[in-house]
Formats: sequence, C-alpha cells, structure tokens
Amino acid sequence: MKRKLAAVAVLSATALLTGVIQVSTAAQAAPTPSPQAQAAQQHATALKLAAGQAGPLAKALKLGDKEQLVAKDAVVDKDGTRHLRFERIYAGLPVIGGDLVVHQKADGSVKSVDKAVAARIALPSLTPKIAADQAVAQVTAGVKATVGVSADADESPLTEVHRAGRAELVVWATDGTPRLAYRTTVEGLRADGTPSRQILVTDAADGRVLATHETIETAAGTGNGVFVGQVPLTTTQSGSSYSLKDASRGDQSTSDLNGGTDGTGSLFANTSNNFGDGTVNSRESAAVDAQFGAATTWDFYKNTFGRSGIRNDGVGALSRVHYGSNYVNAFWDDSCFCMSYGDGNNDTAPLTEIDVAGHEMSHGVTAATANLNYSGESGGLNEATSDIMGTMVEWYANLPSNPPNYWIGELINLRGDGSPLRYMDQPSKDGASADYWDANVGNLDVHYSSGVANHFFYLLSEGSGAKTVNGFSYNSPTYDNSTLAGIGRDKAAQIWYRALTTYFTSTTDYAGARAGTLSAAADLYGSGSAEYNAVAATWTAVNVN
Ligand SMILES: [Zn+2]
Repeated sequence: MKRKLAAVAVLSATALLTGVIQVSTAAQAAPTPSPQAQAAQQHATALKLAAGQAGPLAKALKLGDKEQLVAKDAVVDKDGTRHLRFERIYAGLPVIGGDLVVHQKADGSVKSVDKAVAARIALPSLTPKIAADQAVAQVTAGVKATVGVSADADESPLTEVHRAGRAELVVWATDGTPRLAYRTTVEGLRADGTPSRQILVTDAADGRVLATHETIETAAGTGNGVFVGQVPLTTTQSGSSYSLKDASRGDQSTSDLNGGTDGTGSLFANTSNNFGDGTVNSRESAAVDAQFGAATTWDFYKNTFGRSGIRNDGVGALSRVHYGSNYVNAFWDDSCFCMSYGDGNNDTAPLTEIDVAGHEMSHGVTAATANLNYSGESGGLNEATSDIMGTMVEWYANLPSNPPNYWIGELINLRGDGSPLRYMDQPSKDGASADYWDANVGNLDVHYSSGVANHFFYLLSEGSGAKTVNGFSYNSPTYDNSTLAGIGRDKAAQIWYRALTTYFTSTTDYAGARAGTLSAAADLYGSGSAEYNAVAATWTAVNVN
C-alpha cells in the first residue's frame, strides 16, 4: 500500500519525479525505540549517574576546596562497571588538562582513577597580568605567524582573520605547571579557501602561545560509491574519526536518515577514512555518491560560474541518504537547505546518481535566484534548469563509471527496463514530455513541460539530427525542420545560467525564457553574434517564438 507523504514536506520540496511520493506505511508506524534511541537513553542515564557522583568523588579524590568536578561522559559496561569522565573547574575557571576518568565497580566503589595531569592545582593569584582585550589583540596579531608552523604541512597559511572571540580566563595545567591562561577562538580563512577556526591558549602572565588547536581539519579520504566508483573525498578529521563533512566546500556533509523522514540524521563517520564498498551492502556507499555529487556540484558552479555554493554564500548543504522506506525519489527542500535520497525499490536501488545530485541542488540555485514558480510554464523551466545543470554536473564529473550524456537518471533504472528517466535530445521518448511548445504545455506536469527547454538546451549544445556524442547516439528533431549546428554545451550553459540569475523571474514563461536567454547571449557574446543567432534559431526550432 502506498500513501502520500505529509503535505508540508512535499509542498516545500522539489522532487526528481512526478506523481505520488511513495513511502511505505512502515515509515509511519507507531514509534518503537530504535537501537540508537535506546543507546541514547542509556547514555543519558549514565551521565546523570556521573553528575550525581561529582561532589562525593571530589571529596574522595581529596581535591582542593576550590576544585569542582563536572561530568562530561560516562560508559557503563554490561557487568555494571562504570567509567565516569569529568572535567575540572578551579575557582570557577575551566582547567585545561584537568580531565580525569574514575573507574568504579558496579557497587560504586572506586577501582582506579586516570588523570590527564597529576599536578595539584594551587594558584597564588587569580588576577592575570595581561588584560583580556590586550590578550585578544596579541593573539589576533600573532595568529598568522603561529599558523605557519602548524603540524600539518599541507595546511595552507591563514590569509584572513574574520573574528576573534572574547579571551576567556582558564587554568592551563597540561604541561604539569598549572597557571593562569587565556583561551581565545580566532576564525579566518586559509590561502586555499579552507575556513579556519583555531582555539589558542596564551599565558596570562606574558602572552606566550601555549597551544593552538585548529578545529577545522580536512583530510583526504577515499570513497567507493554505488554509481561514482572510487573517488577522492575531502573529509573532516576529529581525533581518530573521519566524517563526511567537507570544510573546503562550505562544510557540506552527508548523514544517514536510517529510514527516517525528517531530522538531520547521523553524520557518516569512521576511523579508516575509507567510505563505502561500491555496493548497497554498505550503508556508506550511497553516502559516497551523495557527498561526491555535492562536491562536484559545488566545484561545477564555482569553476564554471564563480558561484560559491547553492545560495552563493559559501554555505554547503546537507545531503541525507537512506530516506524513508522503499522511497523511489530524491528531493531538494529549501526549508532545511538539504537534499534527500531514497533507497528505491526494496531499499536496494538508491537514487544517488550524480545528475540527480546536480539536479536537486540546482533547485536550490533556482530558489536563490529566479525562484521560478513550480507550476505552469515557469515550473517546466524550473525543472529544465535542474535537468540542464544536473547534466552539466555529470559532464563536469566525467566519471568512467558514469560516462556523461544528455539523459537524466540513466543509471538508476527507475522504469525497470534500463531506460533513462528523461531524454533531452528528444524528450517525448519518455512517453510524456513535450518536444515543442504549444498553448497547452503549461498544463502538463512540470517534469513534462520541462521537455521544451531540455530540448532547446540539447539542440543549442549539439545541434539537430543523428549523431554520436561521447559514445551515445542521439537523433534530435526540430519543429520547423531546420538544421542546427549547436554552439557547444559550455556556451549553452553560460547563457542559461546568466538568464536564470539575471533575467528570469518567478513568472517567466517560455516566451520570457526566449527573451531572457537572448539578453544573456547578447551580454556574453554580443547582440547579433553567432551565439545570439543560435539561441534565436533554437527557440524557433522548439516552437517558442
Ligand atoms: Zn526536479
């Protein structure tokens, strides 16, 4: 049995497919606590236990009367053995290096204690020699020099300082000689565009830098996706863990919804920095497709149009995989600035092909620019924009496992017969899309009225008639039986992007698209240029006059 998804979620999202969004009833059954939820509950209980022990343990450990323990984490073994982790506070100040773990038997008796630093804390004074704002000024001035000697040789130097936080007074105990210090967070940008967020600890007596910690760490990981094959991934390292979070591309990340239909899911992370095995047996494989698709889409927009992210604000989007149950679709949702991929029929056929990724994120670009209404002719133009840019992303990626072409979703096999979801060279080959404009085209579903613009884009790129491009055979007809040569997909994409971002509005229809792309071609190549004339002739060839 198939049911419609809650209306709110559907209305705010732009999906890949037309028709009913399918979710099995299982996804909406009464909630029974998942293993994750049970583990979270157990952890909360253990943490409460640790918090209750903080006072008695401080006494038992004979800490000074200015010292306090604050519960940070707790692990309870199956046999009841407890491992309670605490941070320390001295006279109200956080102690860096004051952390300790108390190991208790099930009955609460202390077995042993592991301390980060053995030294006793007894400071003669709590008054720093350097004032807080002076400390911030020193840190900000010195930060470029200190970053240059970072332990990671491949970290490029800090070129911009954007913000320095307040200097917080702390006790520095890590080196075994507890003393007053300042902890300051400095945010900036490295020469290669990677953001930097450093925590610096400086001596409150002489301003010397005691420690620097870059909290944004990128690492070169490897992925094996379902569709992308083996690809490099820029991941984030935190201790021994690597996650699918890309600080070099606006922190865009990929999470596991684990069959759920809302929330942010859990970020994919492991200790090997190798993700997926290329099959759906690994939950990470679809995530590799999604993360690599997002990275390629980012790079395509940046290197082709100078656009920094979907909203052109440098912020990366969240990708969510394993959405719902038997969900045969993928969609962009502007309200969460996130995209979601179902796992397809029997949850074994994820919709994570790269042109789908590019398609979905381009809906975000459209929302941030022309914001074409998702109905009528403007809806068709909205869908076509996603098919055009999704296809361009596929060409940009140029993967051996997914040779680029002018078809949409040719690998995800949604029809079950191995055929593509949509054809740009002759849209009517899908049995429903329009090849040419007519007065009724705006009444079609937006995934079919898009055909006119998809056809325009193919003809403008490659020209009409039978030809083989990159090993794929096409035979693209024209309404007026004209013969077109095409100007190449790169120029066609430049014209479409400029029209989208400069001339199209929420109500642009096909006539308006002709006018907008002609203006764009005039801007880019000159009025009356070969490119300009090609745009005019190509619209005529799909009956838009
Ligand atoms: Zn779409």
